[in-house]
Amino acid sequence: MSRIRLLPETVASQVAAGEVVERPASVVKELVENSIDAGARKIDILIRRGGISLMRVIDDGCGMDRDDTLLSLERHATSKIRSVSDLEAIGTLGFRGEALPSIASVSRFRLTTREPDAVAGTEIVVNGGKIDIVRDGGEAPGTQVEVRSLFYNVPARRKFLRAENTESRNIEHQLHLQAIGHAQVAFTFVRDERVVFQLPATAALTDRIRDLYGNELLAQLVPLNGVGSTQIRISGLIGQAGLSRQTRAQQLVFVNGRAIESPLITAAVREGYHTALMKGQYPVTFLFLEVDPGGVDVNVPEESHRELPQLESGRGGSPNRPQTQVRPRPIEVNRPYQEATPQQQFQIIGVLNKLYVLMENADGLVLVDQHAAHERILFEELRRRMEEQGVPSQKLLITQTFELPPRDADWIEQNMSILQKMGIGIESFGPNTFKIDSLPGFLNVTDGAQFMRKVIDDLKSASDRSSPLRLGEDMIAKTVCRHAVKANDPLRYLEVEKLIQDLLECDLPYCCPHGRPTMIQISNAELERKFGRKV
Ligand code: ADP
Ligand code: MG
Repeated sequence: MSRIRLLPETVASQVAAGEVVERPASVVKELVENSIDAGARKIDILIRRGGISLMRVIDDGCGMDRDDTLLSLERHATSKIRSVSDLEAIGTLGFRGEALPSIASVSRFRLTTREPDAVAGTEIVVNGGKIDIVRDGGEAPGTQVEVRSLFYNVPARRKFLRAENTESRNIEHQLHLQAIGHAQVAFTFVRDERVVFQLPATAALTDRIRDLYGNELLAQLVPLNGVGSTQIRISGLIGQAGLSRQTRAQQLVFVNGRAIESPLITAAVREGYHTALMKGQYPVTFLFLEVDPGGVDVNVPEESHRELPQLESGRGGSPNRPQTQVRPRPIEVNRPYQEATPQQQFQIIGVLNKLYVLMENADGLVLVDQHAAHERILFEELRRRMEEQGVPSQKLLITQTFELPPRDADWIEQNMSILQKMGIGIESFGPNTFKIDSLPGFLNVTDGAQFMRKVIDDLKSASDRSSPLRLGEDMIAKTVCRHAVKANDPLRYLEVEKLIQDLLECDLPYCCPHGRPTMIQISNAELERKFGRKV
C-alpha cells in the first residue's frame, strides 16, 4: 500500500532544515526511529568498526511497496505528515522525509523491504546518491537497511569522524535511549560480531532497565508515579539520594517518547535533588514527561547530530545540545527522597581507620562514613531550626553598615524576613544602605559586609528558580562541614551508637548534604560471590 507523499513546497519550506547525517550514531538514530515509526516489534542492529564500515538495521515493521521504496529516497517524501497543520502536533519520531535520501547520498546504501501480505518485496541499491539496482527482493516482512562505507565519497566529512571506539560508544548510547524509550520493542545490538545486548520486548520499563543495566541499578531507583499537573505528567524512575555518575550517560529524559536534552529539565532535576547530588556529578534519570503534543515544538533544526554527548569525556563533558527543544515551562520534580525509610536492625562491629563504622545487618555488611553521617545530622538539625524558630544568630562585635546598588537593595528589602530566619540580623539604614549586627552562630565570618554581598549574589540567582528556604539550605550545607566530626576523630562506642541512631532518624539518611553517600551496603550475596561460594 502506497503511503508516502512528496511534501508540497509550502509544507517542505516550513520543515526546519535538518542536518541528519553527521556521524554514525545519527544514522543509527534515524534508521531505528524509522523502524519504530513503522510499528516494529523487534529491531536488530549490527555495526562494524564504529559503524563506519557497516551499519545494518533490520525490523519487522510494516515494510514498503515498490512505489514507496523509490519515493522514500526522495527529499521531503514522507508518510508521516501531509500539511502544515500536521506540524503542530507530530505523533511520530520522523516527519522531515530527509533521512533516507541524506544517508543514501553519502554511503553505499542497500534497502530491502516487504509488506507482510506482499508476494515479493523490493531491493534497492544506491551508491553515493545514485540508484544502481532496483529489483525484487526482501525475504522476511519488514525492512532491512544496510549502510556501508559512510562518507566514502565525502572525504572532508570522513575526516571528522572520531576513533572507532568513540563512534561505537555513541551508537550504543543512542541505542540505550531508543531501548529505554521503547520498552515494548525487542532490540538486539551486535558490535563487531559480539552481542552487546539482547533485550526482549516488555511492557514494563523496570524490566527494560533491569535487562539493560542490571538488578543492582534497579534497586537504587525510585519510581515516580502520578507526579505532575494537569498539563504535564511525569513518570519513570530516578536514582535515589546518593546515586550519581561522572557522565550524563544515564541521565535520560523523554518528552512524549522522544529522547531530549533540555537544559531547562536538567536544571529542574538538579534543583529537585538539591543537596542529594554530589557536586560535579550527574543524576541517574529515566524520566518520562507527557505533555499535549501541541505544546512541544519538535520542528527545530536538528543540531544534535553535530554534537552528540561524548560519553568518554567524563566530568563536565561536551555542552548539552538540545536534540529537540521544549518550550520552557516551569516543571516541578518531586524530591526523590521521602521514599525508603530505613528499618534495619544494626549491630556495630567496630570502626575502621577512625572513619568507617562497620556494622552488620540482616542483608550483610554496612559501612558508614562517620564524617558524612555527622554532616547529614547537623544539616537536618539546622534546617529544622531554620524552618521552625529560625537559625540562632550571634551578635557581631562591631555592627557594620554597607551600601548596595538599588536593585540589590530592593532584593534585600523583599527578602528581609527570610534573611532573618537564616540568622542574619539585617535592617535598613538609609537609602540603599543596610546595617548588619548578627550572623548565624555556626558561621565563622570576619567581614560581615563582604559575606552579605556574597550571600546576595548566591541567593539572588538561586531565588529566581527556587524557594527561599532552599537558599538557607544552601548556606547551611556549605558551612556545616566545618562542624562535623572529622575523619580521625576517635569516637567512643556510645557516641558511635548515637551517631547511627541520629542518622537513621534523618529524612534523608543515605547521603551527606553534598550528595556523597553516608553508608554503603555490601550484601551477603555479594560477599558469597566474592568468596566464590556462589556464582
Ligand atoms: P521520515 O521518517 O522523516 O518520514 P525518512 O527519510 O526517514 O523520512 O523516511 C522516508 C519514508 O520512508 C518514511 O516516511 C516511511 O514512510 C518510509 N520508511 C523509512 N524507513 C522505513 C521502515 N524501516 N519501514 C517502513 N517504512 C519506512
Ligand atoms: Mg525517518
